[in-house]
Amino acid sequence: MTSRPSLEALPDSIYAAELQRDPPSSRFAAPLEAQFARSALRNSRTIVRFASTLTVLLIVVRGAERLIAGMPLPLPVNGMLAGVIGSSLALLWLAWSGVYERLYLPFARVLVPLRNVLIATQSVHAAALGELDALIVLPLLIIGPLYFSGLSFRAGLFAAALACAAELLAAHLFHLPPQVALRTAAFLLTTLPTCAVAAWLIERHARRGFLEGQLIGELAQQDVLTWTKNRRMFDESLVRLWRQATSDARALSILLMDIDYFKAYNDRYGHQAGDAALRQAAQAIQRCARRPLDLVARYGGEEFGVILYDTDRAGAHAAAEAMRQAVQELSIEHDGSRCSDVLTISVGVAVVEPTAWRNPYGALQLADEALYQAKSKGRNRVELMDDVAHRLLVTGEFSKDIIGHLKSDTSAG
Ligand code: GH3
Ligand code: MG
Ligand code: MG
Repeated sequence: MTSRPSLEALPDSIYAAELQRDPPSSRFAAPLEAQFARSALRNSRTIVRFASTLTVLLIVVRGAERLIAGMPLPLPVNGMLAGVIGSSLALLWLAWSGVYERLYLPFARVLVPLRNVLIATQSVHAAALGELDALIVLPLLIIGPLYFSGLSFRAGLFAAALACAAELLAAHLFHLPPQVALRTAAFLLTTLPTCAVAAWLIERHARRGFLEGQLIGELAQQDVLTWTKNRRMFDESLVRLWRQATSDARALSILLMDIDYFKAYNDRYGHQAGDAALRQAAQAIQRCARRPLDLVARYGGEEFGVILYDTDRAGAHAAAEAMRQAVQELSIEHDGSRCSDVLTISVGVAVVEPTAWRNPYGALQLADEALYQAKSKGRNRVELMDDVAHRLLVTGEFSKDIIGHLKSDTSAG
């Protein structure tokens, strides 16, 4: 059997924080709750479709049955019948339509309790008139909202409890025979709590499953030491953002950074302290890249890669400088450094305008060239690849590409 990862080791994950709660919360904080509701709704679509179709079929069969038997439709409650049919058809349409994820829940929260109250009242009314078999729908009015309606446990319980209350009230108002009324009440008062407890356990299980699933997704993207994105995410995001920048005609900035004299840091302070410093540096860099499309990843051992979408040269240089400064301002003592007395980073920046004939790996190589320059010019500094530097480069795929294309551009012009 494999053991679960320690949740204490994942302090920055909202999913891990929720999983750590004891007892588990029955409702998450606002944004997470909405995310769970969306996921639960998506997962319950098949059951919602099945239940709403079956409900409409049952109504049709029941109506046909009465007509075939020559029984009149329950005239005094025709308005209610229209309400039941109308709300059932609306729920059926929502369950099968393209607006399901957007509109089903807000409507179902109102329509399910309303329809069930109407059905409860009607069935008790029919039973009071002697049609006792009308009461066979009672269990469905509890089970339906709790298990098959796609509603959350709370909303389902509200609908089920409301239907029970309507039945008890209708039994009193329509003078249901006392023995039948008593049996109905006893049935409701035992079935409702039993079903509610089971539904609550199911939802608790679903909440845990949701948190674990999200956490696994997060872990697959994160670097576990620095809690920035991992190399796989960096590579994937680079290709994705490159395509987006190409179609939006936006600039893309790639920053590669490397801790200065880190081997010496490890040698002097030990590997554990090195890990802690690496984590602190990563978090300082991350704090400087807060826009939704900004991405900070651990690129290699003590190297980080940052992608800034739609950022021009001045913006990319300023961001790189802010990151360099943020790491320096951590004031992590570094006796082994030959460029400062605290831990520092060198940053290489490439700002490119993606086009169909350039490729993202070439752009990455430009940033690498810039980082190499930052190192060779003394470290703890930012170097940026500009147009002139592109032309002077004599190494690597991108430089060859770009020089070739610049030549052809020039000759074409
Ligand atoms: P410079 O980059 O300034 O040229 O010098 P450097 O000493 O940092 O050079 P280099 O890139 O060759 O060394 C990287 C060192 O980073 C080697 C390794 O000991 C250390 N390192 C890499 N990954 C980790 C890690 O996860 N934890 C710790 N503690 N150290 C790491
Ligand atoms: Mg290195
Ligand atoms: Mg280094």
